[in-house]
Amino acid sequence: MAFRVYRPYVFPDAIDPDIVKELKRLGVRFESTLHAETDAIVCLLGVKVDAALLDQVPKLRVVSNVAVGYDNIDVAACTARGVIATNTPDVLTEATADLAWALLLAAARRVPEGDRYVRAGKWKRWDWTTLRGADVHGRTLGILGAGRIGQATGHRAVGFSMQVLYTSRERKLLFEHTTLARRVDFKTLLRESDFLSVHVSLSKETRHLIGAKELAMMKPGAILINTARGPIVDEAALVKALKSGKLASAGLDVFEHEPKLHPGLLKLENVAILPHIGSATDSARRRMVETALRNCMSALKGEMPPNAINGHALSRK
Ligand code: NAP
Repeated sequence: MAFRVYRPYVFPDAIDPDIVKELKRLGVRFESTLHAETDAIVCLLGVKVDAALLDQVPKLRVVSNVAVGYDNIDVAACTARGVIATNTPDVLTEATADLAWALLLAAARRVPEGDRYVRAGKWKRWDWTTLRGADVHGRTLGILGAGRIGQATGHRAVGFSMQVLYTSRERKLLFEHTTLARRVDFKTLLRESDFLSVHVSLSKETRHLIGAKELAMMKPGAILINTARGPIVDEAALVKALKSGKLASAGLDVFEHEPKLHPGLLKLENVAILPHIGSATDSARRRMVETALRNCMSALKGEMPPNAINGHALSRK
C-alpha cells in the first residue's frame, strides 16, 4: 500500500538508513501540496493545523510535528476527527538547555554588546568600567516549568554553584535530589530569582504568564531568559521593564509574533536576541526528523506512535 505524506519542507540531513528503507517498504511518497488523498502530515511550527485544514484532508491519519512544542496544532480538533498528533520530545532537550545557558551567560555578561562595541571600533583601551555585567556563580536560577528542558537547564546550574528554584504542578524528586532545587510557588519564583528561565509550554493558560504585574514582582536587576515560546511573555511589558532598568537584561530565542519583533526590543542594548534556534544543532535536528518520521510511519501502520500527544484521548473515543 502506498501513502501520500504532505511535507512542506525539505530536510537536508542524512537520516538513519533503516528509516529510509522502511519509508520505501511502506511506499511513502512525500508531496509538497495538501489534498483530499493526504494520509499524513510531517510539519514544522509554521504549519497551523486547525479545523479548517483538517477538513480538507478526510483520509488523514497523523499529524507528525517536527518539534516538541505543538501550539501550532489544534489537538482537540485532531482527536475529534480520529487523527493522531505527535511531537519530538527528548531529542532536543540538551541542545535547547545549552542555548538557554548561552543566552543566560550572554545576557549576564553583555556578550552581544561587547561584540558590537569591538566591531564598531569603540574599543580604544582597556578600561576598568567597560561593560560590567552580572555575576552568575552562586546566584539563584528560577526555572519556570521544570519539564524536560527546564530540568536540563537546572542541572547545568550545579556547575555554577547556583541555588535552583522551580515551579511545577508536581514535585520533581529526582531533579531535587540531583540539583538540591527547591519547588516554590510562582510568586516566590518571581521574587527570589536572579535569573528566571522560561520553560513552560504555550497554551491558553500560559499565554502572557509573564506580564507587567509579574515583571514588577521580580528582583530589581533580574535577568529573564525565554527559550520556550514568545507569547508566554508580554513583549510590550518586557520592553518597558528593560527600558526602565527594572530588569538588567534579557536573553530571548522566541518572540510573540515571529519573525517580527516588538520594535522597542531592537532598540535596546540590554537584550540578547536569537532567531528561534534552540534545537539548532546538527544532531538534534537530525534526530527530530527521524523521530517525526518514525511517529508518522507507526501511525500509517495502524499502531499508536511512541510520541502520540492525544493517544489517551483517542483510546477513550
Ligand atoms: P515538557 O517536558 O512537556 O515541559 C513543559 C513544562 O510546561 C512542564 O514543566 C509543565 O509543567 C509546564 N506546563 C505546561 N502547561 C502548564 C500550565 N498550564 N501551567 C503551568 N505549567 C505548565 O516540555 P519540554 O520538552 O521541556 O519543552 C518545553 C517547551 O520548550 C516546549 O513546549 C516548546 O514550546 C519549547 N521549546 C523551544 C525550543 C526552541 O527552539 N527555542 C526548542 C524546544 C522546545 P508540569 O511540570 O507541572 O507538568
